[in-house]
Amino acid sequence: MPTYKGRRCRFCQEKVQFVDYKNVASISRFLTKFGKIVPKYYSGNCIKHQKMASNAIKRAREMALIPYIK
Ligand SMILES: [Zn+2]
Repeated sequence: MPTYKGRRCRFCQEKVQFVDYKNVASISRFLTKFGKIVPKYYSGNCIKHQKMASNAIKRAREMALIPYIK
């Protein structure tokens, strides 16, 4: 599991307004090796961007871009 403990929110640093579900490379950073969503205390995201990322991941799963489980 990637740990970003102690880091600031990555999306805030990159000034991301909207997390795109089609951008698999950016959202797969917030998945564990089993395909679960990394919790906020590991990802270091703020609540706004964590919600955006998790919604993007759920949408990408529906569109079969990323798997539900590995
Ligand atoms: Zn943020």
